[in-house]
Amino acid sequence: MDRLSREKRALPAAGLAEALGGELQKFQTRLFERAQAFQRANTFELGTLDEVIAHFRDRGGFVWVQWCGDEAEEARVKTDAGGVTIRTIDEDTRPSGNCFVCGRPATLRVALAKAY
Ligand SMILES: [Zn+2]
Repeated sequence: MDRLSREKRALPAAGLAEALGGELQKFQTRLFERAQAFQRANTFELGTLDEVIAHFRDRGGFVWVQWCGDEAEEARVKTDAGGVTIRTIDEDTRPSGNCFVCGRPATLRVALAKAY
């Protein structure tokens, strides 16, 4: 029984373990691809606080922004965008451009998400 497509298929009795292993691998590959597609569809890159507020008015997911690191702004974002908080700091990417709140040069690239 394939739980992703809900189709039943007969497996040959000979080489059953091998067939099962193959099926499992295909299943895992599809799960992984599905998770990646979901992540892509739910990840956004925005430039200003206005865009962030507008985004979270009717959408969810993760929004990457460039940020200066000022903690006072974190509180402001949470208030203005209705519960949006910083979830992840991107340690691998050097920030480029300006802070999405104050416009000063950014020092961090962070992901925002809304708490429900
Ligand atoms: Zn700032």
